[in-house]
Amino acid sequence: MGKTIVFANQKGGVGKTTTAVNVGSYIAAEGKKVLLVDFDPQGNLSSSVGCNNKQDGIYEVITDKRNIEDVIVKTDQEGLFIVTSNLNLSGATIELVDMEGREFILKKALESVKDNFDYILIDCPPSLGVLTLNGFVASDYVIVPLQCEFFALEGFITMLFQTVKRIQQTVNKKLKIAGIVFTMYDSRTRLSNEVIHKVKSTFASHPEILFQTIIPRNIRLTEAPSHGVPINLYDNSCVGAKSYYKLALEVIDRV
Ligand code: ADP
Ligand code: MG
Repeated sequence: MGKTIVFANQKGGVGKTTTAVNVGSYIAAEGKKVLLVDFDPQGNLSSSVGCNNKQDGIYEVITDKRNIEDVIVKTDQEGLFIVTSNLNLSGATIELVDMEGREFILKKALESVKDNFDYILIDCPPSLGVLTLNGFVASDYVIVPLQCEFFALEGFITMLFQTVKRIQQTVNKKLKIAGIVFTMYDSRTRLSNEVIHKVKSTFASHPEILFQTIIPRNIRLTEAPSHGVPINLYDNSCVGAKSYYKLALEVIDRV
């Protein structure tokens, strides 16, 4: 049965989408079958693999308008597939509020395809609202991308981990933290090094929670999405590509 991983952090611009698409692509390049699920109404994951957000996708699946099998799209990377997202999903936040079992909607939607893939990777919006909650409930593992250029991160980390703990105690007892990955690291800035130092000391009692691989700030990673391809199909030898390849191997190892 496929392993489901959610990429979550309530802050925007920390590298959730970039990490989901590139880890997914490198896992697929290792010969695994991977399904990306864009669960952010902004649809950045969809455009990162060259899909526009005009087609039916995850919103139409969770509202029973389409079967998930019929909206899975093949990407340019062999073995990498996606269920896209569009702005209709932002309306779902309101529609879901009154729905019974609203935190299980995504889990239910993915059930019929879980056996068809080795990994299912879910990209979440920047909040801890009902969509991200669905991501947590549908998943076996959570990966937390942490941007290295962020001052007030302690409060954010505490809130995020409290949420995960609450989920583990209630609606998804098997949810595990696969790890925290530092993104946008710039060795020249004091801030990057301070953030890493601080997070390392916060998790001093269980350092294994941090992935060994640190993703550097790399302009090629910013450029690839506008060409609609993951980094390995855009510039497989840049430092950003090499680090996401290493991270993907770590993810396979841990998950
Ligand atoms: P999120 O999904 O958390 O909002 P994104 O993955 O969309 O974050 O990243 C935010 C922006 O930063 C995007 O423009 C992306 O291309 C860019 N970006 C992400 N990771 C890196 C990196 N390691 N180096 C340079 N730019 C990056
Ligand atoms: Mg995103």
